[in-house]
This record gives sequence, structure tokens and C-alpha cells, in this order.
Amino acid sequence: MLRATALVARASRAGLISHSKNMLVVGAGVAGVSAAMLAASQGIRTLLIEKEDVPFFRQASSQREIDPTEFDWPAPHWMEPSIPASDSCPMPLPFPRGPAAEVAQGWRKLLRKFTDKNSEVIQVQFLKELVGLPVSENGTVRSRIRDVESRDEYERTNSFLLDCRGAGEERISIGDFSGFQFWEDDRLADRNLGLSSAPRVLISGGSDGALQDFLRIVFAGKTPREIYRRFFRASEVLHRNAGLVSGRLYETGLHMVCGRRPGLCESETCPPRPC
Ligand SMILES: Cc1cc2nc3c(=O)[nH]c(=O)nc-3n(C[C@H](O)[C@H](O)[C@H](O)COP(=O)(O)OP(=O)(O)OC[C@H]3O[C@@H](n4cnc5c(N)ncnc54)[C@H](O)[C@@H]3O)c2cc1C
Repeated sequence: MLRATALVARASRAGLISHSKNMLVVGAGVAGVSAAMLAASQGIRTLLIEKEDVPFFRQASSQREIDPTEFDWPAPHWMEPSIPASDSCPMPLPFPRGPAAEVAQGWRKLLRKFTDKNSEVIQVQFLKELVGLPVSENGTVRSRIRDVESRDEYERTNSFLLDCRGAGEERISIGDFSGFQFWEDDRLADRNLGLSSAPRVLISGGSDGALQDFLRIVFAGKTPREIYRRFFRASEVLHRNAGLVSGRLYETGLHMVCGRRPGLCESETCPPRPC
């Protein structure tokens, strides 16, 4: 979401997209939708295509708790489980903590409202899939699109293409073994993971998904924020010092993304709020 909006802001500043240079966004996940809404709010004609029949397909049927700032420590906003945080750039979609399907439902309503209001600049087409490699020539991008139902293929030419197809399918099999998929409902936070006796657990991989599963198993579903609060409640000084250091680090990061220091974020260098 942050990367996609930063990309649109940069592409717009660089003149790659404008009122006369349209954009094709591939994938109606949270990145693609955020990018498309931001571009359209700047008057850039935007077509968003999605191969499934709903937006936010990944989160739409998952009861998994999602949390946008869980891994942002040491940024000062990490204690606020929502984006945009009070110290960050505004975003086209708000991202609160909650069950994935509920968050997705809220996003879907916002997208529908936005497309109804801005139908002259934004169009969303479902069951349309980008196939093959787009070809860039003479300042345009030629893409091949397949209608998922009829299997018909056709070409589209745009000034700019933003590929937001996500990470794709998870592969979690080792021989005959397969674990839970990240978005699947699981019982990782239950006692003994919901099994009759205590299992031995292997978490393979060290990315945010693995870290989240580890924390949910070890702390019975408690979030890092809850754990942090519990440990540091009595230690105000430590907390304040941590805030100071993290504030500086975060400010540097924000400066790199927005080109401005926090507080000046509403300027033209930051993605503006969509109408
Ligand atoms: C293991 C794991 C753990 C994660 N943990 C977290 C977490 O704790 N918190 C968090 O916020 N996020 C987490 N994520 C990441 C989460 O998937 C992303 O935050 C979010 O879904 C990324 O959004 P996206 O729009 O980039 O991609 P996606 O949500 O994957 O959206 C991409 C969209 O593109 C569509 N698409 C794909 N190919 C085509 C095509 N050829 N043509 C048209 N459409 C296409 C797909 O159908 C999909 O709707 C995790 C992901 C994984 C895999």
C-alpha cells in the first residue's frame, strides 16, 4: 500500500502519468486499489483489472487478524494499529487492525463509493487477467489481457502500467507434508494448537508471516504490542527513550519516501488524499 502510493506519487511528479497519460493497474489487491484511487484522485485516467471476481481477494474470506503496523517497530506509530498513523502520509484506504474479511469489506465499500463518484477517471474490470509480458515502445506499454470467462484475448495500450499482482500463491509443502496457508483459518493461538497433545512445531522461513505465526504460538495469540505493554508498563523512562530513538529513525525513513519531514506531509510531495 505504501510502496504503491509512493510509486504513483513519483510517477506523477516525473510526468510519466498525467491528465493526458493514462495508467493500467494490474491486480485489485490493497496495493493496486490504493494506487488506482490515488492516480484517479489526481485526474489521471486509470483502468484497474483483476483476474478474480472481487477486489481484495486474499483477505476477502479470511478471519485472520491483520495488523498494518505490527512489524514497524521502532517507528513511534507502531503502537497505533492503523494506517495512516498520526505521523504518516495520508493514504487512499485506511488500514485498521481487524479480521481480514472485515477490513476487506470496508475497503470494498470505499472502492465502490469512490468509483461511483469518479467514474469518468477510474474503471475497475473483474475477471480480466494480464497474460504474457507487456511490451514497452514509443512511450507506451502494450499489454495482452485475457477475459477469464470467455478466454478471449485482446490488446490494450496505455502510457503506464503498474504491476500489482502480489506475491502469488504460497507454496508450503515439504514432501507429503503441508501446513496452513497464511490466509487460511488455523488454530495456532489455541492451546496445543487445538490438538489433543502438545505438538512439536517447525516454523520454516523467517519472513513476517513466519514471525507472526511464531508469536501467535508462543504468546497464545497476543500481539507484540500487548507483550511490549506488559513488559514495559512499569518502565516509563525506557519507553520514552525508545520513542526518541525510534522517532529519529522513522523521521529519516519518512524523509526518504516523502521528501519531507513529518508535519509538512500534506505538501505536493506527498500522496494527496483522494476526493
Ligand atoms: C505468508 C504471508 C504473510 C503475510 N503477512 C501479512 C501481515 O501480517 N500483514 C499484512 O498486512 N500483510 C501480510 N502479507 C502480505 C499480504 O498478502 C499483503 O499485505 C497484501 O495482500 C499485498 O497486497 P498486494 O495488493 O500487493 O497483493 P495481493 O493482495 O496478492 O493482490 C494481488 C492481486 O492481483 C491479482 N492478480 C494476480 N495476477 C494477476 C493477473 N495476471 N491479472 C490480473 N490480476 C492479477 C490477484 O488476484 C490479487 O487480487 C502476508 C503475505 C504472505 C504471503
